[in-house]
Amino acid sequence: MKKSAVIIGGGLGGLFTGAILSKEGMQVTVLEKNAIIGGGLQSFQRFGVLFDTGMHIIGGMQEGGNIRRLCEYLGIWDRVHLRDTDPDNMDSIYFAEDKRTYRIARGKKRFVETLSEAFPDQKAHLQAYIEAVYRVADEVDLFYLRPSPEYLQVHSDDFQMSATDFIAKYIPDEHLQSVVAYLNPLYGGRDKVTPAYIHALISVLYIDGSSRFAGGSLLFAETLRDVIEENGGKVYAGDAVVSVQSREREITGVTTASGKTFTADCYISAIHPCALFALLDDEKVLPKPYRTRLSELPNAYSAFTLNLKLKPNTFKFFNYTMYYMSRYDEMWRFGETKVWPNGFLFVTPPEIEQGEYARKMIVTAPMAWEYVKRWENTTVGKRGEEYEAWKKAYAEKLLDCMEEIHPGIRNCIEAVNAASPLTIRDFYGIKEGSMYGFSKDCNNIVMSQVPVVTKVPNLYLTGQNCNLHGFCGVALTAIVTSEAILGRNYILNKINALGGKE
Ligand SMILES: Cc1cc2nc3c(=O)[nH]c(=O)nc-3n(C[C@H](O)[C@H](O)[C@H](O)COP(=O)(O)OP(=O)(O)OC[C@H]3O[C@@H](n4cnc5c(N)ncnc54)[C@H](O)[C@@H]3O)c2cc1C
Repeated sequence: MKKSAVIIGGGLGGLFTGAILSKEGMQVTVLEKNAIIGGGLQSFQRFGVLFDTGMHIIGGMQEGGNIRRLCEYLGIWDRVHLRDTDPDNMDSIYFAEDKRTYRIARGKKRFVETLSEAFPDQKAHLQAYIEAVYRVADEVDLFYLRPSPEYLQVHSDDFQMSATDFIAKYIPDEHLQSVVAYLNPLYGGRDKVTPAYIHALISVLYIDGSSRFAGGSLLFAETLRDVIEENGGKVYAGDAVVSVQSREREITGVTTASGKTFTADCYISAIHPCALFALLDDEKVLPKPYRTRLSELPNAYSAFTLNLKLKPNTFKFFNYTMYYMSRYDEMWRFGETKVWPNGFLFVTPPEIEQGEYARKMIVTAPMAWEYVKRWENTTVGKRGEEYEAWKKAYAEKLLDCMEEIHPGIRNCIEAVNAASPLTIRDFYGIKEGSMYGFSKDCNNIVMSQVPVVTKVPNLYLTGQNCNLHGFCGVALTAIVTSEAILGRNYILNKINALGGKE
């Protein structure tokens, strides 16, 4: 008899975990509330153009990269459509304060070289900083797909300090401190709170090379779904889980909105833990201190997004991520309410056959939940005229800033679609529309860790709220969740047996 698993949530975490477990012979059922699978991998049509919702830049897909090796183990690498960013200019960071633009080239050595051109007297500091960044990342075995050791790991002081203190420890120049923190919007960084190891992991991930899905990230979600279904599993979309039943310390089944009940040997929650708590028929199946702790953990800030359809042959495709920052000292103030936008990023997502001109652009600007709180009791399409007017005004604020970098960009735009933190909340089912789920805190690292195992032996967690968020973090956590069921290092040993970097 095949061991079976029911997975709640068909986003990146649910699909990756489902793909691994089904490849290893388990009978997997994935239940997704939205009509289209994928969560953050979902793409949607607007004005006849396909836009990605939450996966614009990804890492770990270079030769020998951790997630590329996971894809190779799953046997899907040849089905993945990617376009790497320009190695000489992966990222451009513009500061409105002094109208300077910094370019970042791929690789540790060239990262130092490109930034040293702009800060010649900081070269030695940059060198020491980048060595420290790689040292900290190297403390995380999973990031390099190394089997986990049996002993409890002790981390360095650098690992545990705040990202802001870590950067200041190595780099005296305050402007450069902000420049090296430019990836902040990709991990929800908070001043004196976000741990240095989060900053280090995300920095190494992207400095080693970033990529973008070509033709829409949904293709990748569909590939993971195909792995599950080719191995005899099933992925159901458009049917939310509405209750989770339990008896004593065991989950006994889940029921969906359409009234179907699914049972399995084990259950994996790939949704926000607080959303899971709300589904439990008997919440006492999980200890109260655990539920209280997770309900009180802060979540990362949200975002305001513009999906722009561009007029044909008006705006050239660019193969990098453009970051706009208002001021250097605003770098750690995303998610606060004093200034908006204090910064944002924008991309022209590639098609599989990308021509010289772009037909679309996605702009993502971090935003605090407080901006939309007054409409929190509304639902999609019924938020009212005041909200629509607010969205339009905030879209204009972003376009004003973009005009600084690309004068005349408004003339290239054919249609504008805007999404707010409310959209993210309702689409993903995530509290306050948080982009990355639980926020990590260096002042209490242990309290902000969420293990994939729970006090209920047949209930597991996966997804961005455990360990690291994003494409890389969620995929790595899928390995951890799978190994909690299949055995320690079971998957990592298989990946390493295929060769590649250990
Ligand atoms: C605007 C934005 C931009 C981002 N950009 C990037 C980026 O460029 N690169 C990157 O690496 N990361 C990015 N991220 C983060 C990334 O999208 C997430 O970390 C990742 O998608 C989280 O995966 P997950 O599986 O944990 O959650 P999700 O992808 O949110 O999946 C959870 C799924 O569960 C479903 N669900 C919820 N409740 C139920 C229920 N009751 N029953 C059934 N299904 C349910 C949801 O519909 C969803 O599909 C971005 C996020 C946002 C919001």
